Amino acid sequence: MPGDRYARNAIQRWAHHTGHRLSDLLYPLMRHTLPYRPKMWWIPTLPVALHRRRRSPARPWTEPVAPPPEELKTVPGVKLDPVAQQKAMEEAPLHDFIRLNPEMRGVHSPTGRMWVSLLSTSPRVQRAARRRAGFTRGSKPAERKAAADPAALTAALRGEAARLGLSAIGITHYDKKYNFAEYYGLNVGDTIIVGILEQNYDSTQTAPSIRAEKAALTTYAELEDCMRLLATWIHAQGYKARPEGFVGESMNIPYAVQAGLGQLGLNGQLLSPHAGSRARLHVMSTDAPFVHDEPVDYGIEGVCDECQICVRRCPPGAIPAARKDSRGVLKAKLNTKRCLPVMGKTAGCSVCMKTCPVQRFGLPAVLAEFEATGQILGKGTDDLEGYDWPVDGKHYGPGQKPRIGPELIETPGFDFDPNRTEPPSDTKKDLSSDERLGALGY
Ligand code: SF4
Ligand code: SF4
Repeated sequence: MPGDRYARNAIQRWAHHTGHRLSDLLYPLMRHTLPYRPKMWWIPTLPVALHRRRRSPARPWTEPVAPPPEELKTVPGVKLDPVAQQKAMEEAPLHDFIRLNPEMRGVHSPTGRMWVSLLSTSPRVQRAARRRAGFTRGSKPAERKAAADPAALTAALRGEAARLGLSAIGITHYDKKYNFAEYYGLNVGDTIIVGILEQNYDSTQTAPSIRAEKAALTTYAELEDCMRLLATWIHAQGYKARPEGFVGESMNIPYAVQAGLGQLGLNGQLLSPHAGSRARLHVMSTDAPFVHDEPVDYGIEGVCDECQICVRRCPPGAIPAARKDSRGVLKAKLNTKRCLPVMGKTAGCSVCMKTCPVQRFGLPAVLAEFEATGQILGKGTDDLEGYDWPVDGKHYGPGQKPRIGPELIETPGFDFDPNRTEPPSDTKKDLSSDERLGALGY
């Protein structure tokens, strides 16, 4: 209803401006509250099952995905140059993002601007992080009964993951290239399990909005609990398992692609076949002899080439239209210098997620439409491409974009350098789990 939209946009605009005015006023105070932010875990919150707008569907994906038509096929997973990947790792190993970019820990960081979503989801996220840390510290594998049959053990793992409500899991090998240098050697085995939990559908379609952002952050907390419980099950089988948390120690997306859970979208995110990038990821290492999955060509790169909606709809134009080599991986490399500040100032933005047809309709429907008509489902429609922009409270349909002024791109005090490969020499080497959560505003 147009009246509903007008009222919703007016509230969004009011919330946006009030939030930012308050941020400006509270900044001197916020600087002093930074050390205390990771200590909100004791604040009670409504059980997530009662949160219709935030909870994940929490059920496994079962709909079959048919092979793509020939013209959409590229390669299984993503195109890699292993020699260039190895060289990149030796010359410039990956680092913990928070250590590499200490400005992310300041009150001027983009996440500092997202305090409305962060404050109300912090207790839940912090509790999940504490439960996981307690598991990692205190839980030990049970005595192993007998040599397991890998296929039977893997089937049992998948059954347990489905029982816990995970949308999907993928299994692959540990790869140092995807591990941040600060955490080399912490893996407890050579197998990585990637877990996916689907984010609330209805809330995601309202992005950019505080509602969508809260749904995303709540999903991370739910996922962290699911992965801890899956690790508990692995311990009960007599094997080691070490789940990483929300502020992970590895690059989750390459592992997910390697484990056949999806392919890279032009928006830089993992596009899972069932929910596109509305899929939150965590990983854990284990020494259990699970059968590994292989990368899959779902036709997603071919869909992206035909689609390009996110490239056109990204408000600051941060998504390139073409892929190029980056550390031995052929991918579209996001302009984070433009994306991050806008994200922080517009409730997480996520226009690239909201307008993606794979996220909205699922890959099977997108492929079926392409086979029938040669078109991308929803492309050019306001329903898919339109979004409400919180900064001015206006709706932008296909072909229209909000004006992005310097006040959205530039943030005094936030000196982010996307080309940095080494943490500044005065950066503290070991950041505690609380410090890393606090760095993101939790
Ligand atoms: S919006 Fe289109 S181009 Fe962008 S990630 Fe989704 S399918 Fe790919
Ligand atoms: S989050 Fe927003 S600014 Fe960043 S890439 Fe996506 S659409 Fe662009």
